[in-house]
Amino acid sequence: MTAQVIDGKAIAQKVRDEVKEKVAARVAAGKSKPGLATVLVGENPASEVYVGMKKRMCEKLGMESFLYTLPTDASQEEVESLVKKLNADPAVNGILVQLPLPDHLDEEKVLQAIDITKDIDGFHPINIGRLAQKGRESLFVPCTPDGCLYLLDEVGAKLEGANAVVLGRSNIVGMPMALLLVKRNATVTICHSRTKDLPAICREADILIAAVGRVEMVKKDWVKPGAVVIDVGTHRVEDETKEKGYYLTGDVAFDEVSEVAGWVSPSPGGVGPMTIAMLMRNTLRAAEIQDGE
Ligand code: NAP
Repeated sequence: MTAQVIDGKAIAQKVRDEVKEKVAARVAAGKSKPGLATVLVGENPASEVYVGMKKRMCEKLGMESFLYTLPTDASQEEVESLVKKLNADPAVNGILVQLPLPDHLDEEKVLQAIDITKDIDGFHPINIGRLAQKGRESLFVPCTPDGCLYLLDEVGAKLEGANAVVLGRSNIVGMPMALLLVKRNATVTICHSRTKDLPAICREADILIAAVGRVEMVKKDWVKPGAVVIDVGTHRVEDETKEKGYYLTGDVAFDEVSEVAGWVSPSPGGVGPMTIAMLMRNTLRAAEIQDGE
């Protein structure tokens, strides 16, 4: 079998086009442009790249973006008081605190300070708590797992009753992904660093989500024939034989897994573009919620 490739770039483009259209319609109706405020604490080259991408994407889609930078040694109080100021600012519809924060800061407390109607990352304990509860809906779902779910729906993956295996249990990807799949009536197994015999568990998966942060860990013999495999991992591997001196890859050994899976998302070009598209969608949704829609 040769897997079909899930084109995250094209699917993300579709999501962005929809957002752009809705933003234009809002503005034409005399409403404000949705505004995204990003809080960046300290100097982290990767975070600076992500923040720049989000800013450019806001501009492309007709939204406002505001960047607030604080020094590495900013105190807990300073970060929280900035978040509170943004909570009260009507031009700001969504607040994103770029993670990771410097070690001396209490990430949970900072995230808790965000008004839940502006929590476009969906990391506020109330939003995550609602995701975990039956019959409740969070206002916002974390963007990366939401993007994975969107990809699964786009390829018509049957979730109800399916065996889904999530590799990884982080707060930002693995755990909310598992909760989303349970909400969609999949039977979910969550794996982590203490799980025994990962390959055997993965081989039972109709849906396999790899969010483990290990270069090409998921091999061909881990995958059930015909399974849908979503690769969340993003890695830059140094390689002098490449023109740039490195190559990008994911948590899945793409070429060999493609020989057995039914569908597979590549990395790069799969989940990455979806994450930012879902963030833009959440920012628009935040503006709508704050308008009482
Ligand atoms: P993380 O916080 O480091 O979590 C990794 C998870 O994998 C943990 O639950 C860990 O288990 C588990 N794990 C690590 N090594 C393992 C092993 N050898 N066997 C089994 N489980 C293992 O990572 P993350 O933030 O969730 O990110 C995961 C990957 O996705 C990374 O490559 C990251 O760069 C990428 N990512 C991509 C996007 C995107 O937009 N494309 C967004 C976010 C993250 P324990 O809990 O037991 O430690």
